[in-house]
Amino acid sequence: MTAKPEPTAPITQDVMTIPRKMPEGPKNLVGLTRAKLRDALIEVGTPEKQAKMRANQLWQWIYHWGVRDFAQMTNLAKDYRAKLAANFVVEVPEVVSKQVSEDGTRKYLVRIAGGHEVEVVYIPETDRGTLCISSQVGCTLTCSFCHTGTQKLVRNLTAAEIVGQIMMARDDLEEWPEPGVGTGENGPRLLSNIVLMGMGEPLYNFDNVRDAMKIAMDGEGIALSRRRITLSTSGVVPEIAKCAEEIGCLMAVSFHATDDETRNKLVPINKRWNIEALLDALREYPRLSNSERITFEYVMLKDVNDSDEDARRLVKLIKGIPAKINLIPFNEWPGSPYTRSSWNRIRKFADIIHNAGYASPIRTPRGEDIMAACGQLKSATERARKSRAQIEAETGAP
Ligand code: SAH
Ligand code: SF4
Repeated sequence: MTAKPEPTAPITQDVMTIPRKMPEGPKNLVGLTRAKLRDALIEVGTPEKQAKMRANQLWQWIYHWGVRDFAQMTNLAKDYRAKLAANFVVEVPEVVSKQVSEDGTRKYLVRIAGGHEVEVVYIPETDRGTLCISSQVGCTLTCSFCHTGTQKLVRNLTAAEIVGQIMMARDDLEEWPEPGVGTGENGPRLLSNIVLMGMGEPLYNFDNVRDAMKIAMDGEGIALSRRRITLSTSGVVPEIAKCAEEIGCLMAVSFHATDDETRNKLVPINKRWNIEALLDALREYPRLSNSERITFEYVMLKDVNDSDEDARRLVKLIKGIPAKINLIPFNEWPGSPYTRSSWNRIRKFADIIHNAGYASPIRTPRGEDIMAACGQLKSATERARKSRAQIEAETGAP
């Protein structure tokens, strides 16, 4: 069931498909699906009969060995390598700056075409290493507790820019196997998990996110299991089933409130698709994607959504959905309109959910000293800012 769209709802997908003039130059092979890669090779004169094999060879060089220079692709004939070099590049976003937190978290600022910048965060843990990647520059949505939400949407990232963030991080972690040596699988991976929890709403950039994640999951390349990729959405209901069917990764949802009035203020897309519509879509997700459970993200805001009653309501709402509730202590940013719930309050809230039979981990804020924690990302170079009036109109909250 879908709530009626607000007549003035500014949340439309159209703004995100504004065509932009691509700079002329050699075509980047990164981000192309296998089929598109094959077509690109045929376009420059590769015989159709050979194209599939050449595409497979290139795929391995690019995504398994991490090679960017055609000259190093030694199982291709020299003149063919020269032809590739004349027509194509293998390019990932450029790292502008890197900050390392006291706790080991790394925050990268990367530059993409058009001079825009996005942030990427690497979070090392004892049993895994998670890369938090961005899907858009800015965001069209205006969640009132989120720093990215104060920044206008500048543009969608391309598939190349999305998978390029993973490749860039593997460069920095020096995790590519030495070309031609071994299988590349030597012990646990430094970059073992991906979360689409950086800047932007991934389901409003669906095709590029899908193509990039398909590349990341491909067994002959980066080869991350779909169970190690989590996409977080604010609740773009019509795209949820599509995500299950076409990507099949794990799903996290920015839930954050247990009644529509509060959720309208915190996550204004709720005015378009309310809690009931969202839960209906989520109920179907595990079956459609053959995955175990949904992660409900819940930001803890003092006196806004953190009462015992909220916790009890939350448990009731998600009944029947296999779920884990990730409690996120609010991370403040300059000018943020909320404060973090006290630790006692968060623990009490977690206990109620836990006693109802759900895992309720409290997410430890990571990289706070470098402003890398959830919801703190915002590229300082983007001056474009939503006006106060726009935020008020969209959230209904001063
Ligand atoms: N746009 C997507 C993914 C990016 S946000 C989404 O909204 O789900 C990743 C998570 O961080 C979301 O659950 C988001 O609601 C949360 N978040 C945003 N700002 C935050 C803040 N200041 N403190 C804590 N969590 C925040
Ligand atoms: Fe956009 Fe997610 Fe931030 Fe909401 S929480 S403004 S959807 S990035």
